[in-house]
Amino acid sequence: MSSRLKTFQSLGIDAYQLREASVNLDSNQESEWPIIESQVSNCKKCSLHKGRNNTVFGDGNRNSDWFFIGEAPGKDEDLEGKPFIGRAGRLLTEVIFSMGLSRQDVFIANILKCRPPDNRDPKPEEVKKCFSYLEKQIELVNPKVIVAVGRIAAHSLLGIDLPMGKLRGKIHGFGPSEIPTFIIYHPAYLLRSPSKKKKVWEDLQLVNDFLKDDS
Ligand code: URA
Ligand code: SF4
Repeated sequence: MSSRLKTFQSLGIDAYQLREASVNLDSNQESEWPIIESQVSNCKKCSLHKGRNNTVFGDGNRNSDWFFIGEAPGKDEDLEGKPFIGRAGRLLTEVIFSMGLSRQDVFIANILKCRPPDNRDPKPEEVKKCFSYLEKQIELVNPKVIVAVGRIAAHSLLGIDLPMGKLRGKIHGFGPSEIPTFIIYHPAYLLRSPSKKKKVWEDLQLVNDFLKDDS
């Protein structure tokens, strides 16, 4: 067992076995990006395509160790076609910056690629129809960690519906290879409850420590 796993287990944190070390993408996989980009921008699999101005595919470093996953585009994201650029997004960008990273160092996408009307929660059938795009993005980026942003993203990703207090501060596993997955408060919630910012900082430090221990 790696020292990292021992450390986390001694802290009473659920830890999953590490995946195999990441492999570099071969040129075949590299050429898969334009295919899913085009599939998403033309997608009509669920009714959300009717109300969208733009699909929001996701952006950032396609070889990053970090893969952030939000819930769905909001108004600003739908207008610009980029994830997390509104008020909540700027706060997330600040949090990422406070970790010594920039937006270009991480990859950011959402569970849904189109904006739900009035920012309502994603419906299970929308998540089901959209999920294969996210799965493919995760496969191609092959991150060392996933950070699910908010309870709804976490629920859609991991199928666990618990209050945030029970989700954060732990390592979960996504998919058959149990990609280490951390869950943080959504920045829209932090805008309403600024005192929770410290907890997000602590949670991301946990991710940082995990990555350091892993390298
Ligand atoms: N909230 C999200 O979950 N995702 C975005 O892209 C913007 C706001
Ligand atoms: Fe397609 Fe996803 Fe947009 Fe629905 S939300 S239309 S499944 S891209």
